[in-house]
Amino acid sequence: MRKTLLSVIALSLLMQIAAARTQSLREQEHKSLDVYYVDTEGGKAVLFVSPTGETMLYDTGTGGDANRDLDRILAVIKAANLPVQQLDHVIVSHYHGDHSGNAAVLADKLPIRNFYDHGGWTVELQSNRSAAFNAYRPIRDKAHVIVPKPGAKIPISGFDVTVVANAGELITTPVSGMPGAGTPNPQCRQFVPRVQDATPENYYAMGVVIKYGNFRMLDLSDLTWNQEKELVCPNNMLGTNFDVYNTSRHGTDFAGNPVLVHAARPRVAVMNNSPTKGGTPDTFKIVKSSPGILDFWQLHFSENVSKETNSPDQFIANIDAMPTNHPAHFLKLSARTDGSFTVINERTGFSKEYPAAKP
Ligand SMILES: [Zn+2]
Repeated sequence: MRKTLLSVIALSLLMQIAAARTQSLREQEHKSLDVYYVDTEGGKAVLFVSPTGETMLYDTGTGGDANRDLDRILAVIKAANLPVQQLDHVIVSHYHGDHSGNAAVLADKLPIRNFYDHGGWTVELQSNRSAAFNAYRPIRDKAHVIVPKPGAKIPISGFDVTVVANAGELITTPVSGMPGAGTPNPQCRQFVPRVQDATPENYYAMGVVIKYGNFRMLDLSDLTWNQEKELVCPNNMLGTNFDVYNTSRHGTDFAGNPVLVHAARPRVAVMNNSPTKGGTPDTFKIVKSSPGILDFWQLHFSENVSKETNSPDQFIANIDAMPTNHPAHFLKLSARTDGSFTVINERTGFSKEYPAAKP
């Protein structure tokens, strides 16, 4: 009897130890910042899941089109297996339809705690260009909306999001904790300005620097070529040695200027292009010549350059040219506080591990 009791106690102790071990393994597994790049066919929608479980969606893809991007965003939210079916923070970087297109319909689908945008107005009032803003406005009127100034942080737990551009204003002090931030940038003399194209709304876009321990990511949404230079010249306010640069303006020639990209010195770039939007010859040239660049991941194969210029197949999430009738694949990046990260191509299952950069 006594022997049986002892073995029951021993067994239950062993089970408790095993359960505790599983629990701690699970916690370790979740000690990452997960970033999902949704394929919105040359729009933008990036879902961040913090190690604490809070969520931030950076832009909402293009609206309409039989809910193509809405469904894709919801599918990725499902794949992310969130502890709570809600979005804690949604950034609407600016009011072009490829970014704000699903802000209103998403708010119908699940609770959104906070919106962040550049204010209750758009410079583009032509009816064909203001539709996405007009759809968002009624939701915006009722929602909790914050218009952050450059230098402010998005109040998300578990990682750090600093706004560096919003509503046409740029950060004027160095981003804290970024290596090299505030130091002179010798590449500025090579800068060649470009005339702003006829879509002034981009000028007001919200851009951010993301930090998770030693991991650093730069995402300026659709900010313009000349503003990018202002951010890094004459002193580089953003800092250098980014792990990841999400290409500005979908990898088109309106942004992603070399003075910015090469000052940021990313190890990896991720491009939110479509088969025909972005992925231009100049974008490939600028990214591939960036010092220290290891890989260039693409949401789509680019038809604007040769197959040889595109990254190898395993670094491309979608290879179909059809904009709607193909299964949309995402890229998932998991970052850890030591600065190491993994990128997974959901289409092929290919993943690549990037060890922490040497200081
Ligand atoms: Zn855009």
